[in-house]
Amino acid sequence: MRAQRKPTNGSVSRKLSNHSWGTAVDFKIVGFDAPGNTKQNVPKFIAAMIPHFNNEGWLSGIAFNDSMHFEVADETIKQWSADGKLD
Ligand SMILES: [Zn+2]
Repeated sequence: MRAQRKPTNGSVSRKLSNHSWGTAVDFKIVGFDAPGNTKQNVPKFIAAMIPHFNNEGWLSGIAFNDSMHFEVADETIKQWSADGKLD
């Protein structure tokens, strides 16, 4: 599946989403809206996960106003490749 990114500011992107190849995930709590652009109000369940994802080389989407989003950092993918984990 290939899909374009969907910026939380509503703009149209021609870039492919890294969800397309499994290096990004979104989180929400069942029964609640997915936390998109939450500005300074990062949900506690997201804030609690950030250090764990960071420790594994992932980045939080809060840097680009997409609180639900986590993705593997480019450096991590390069390291995984160098380590033969993607062979
Ligand atoms: Zn996402």
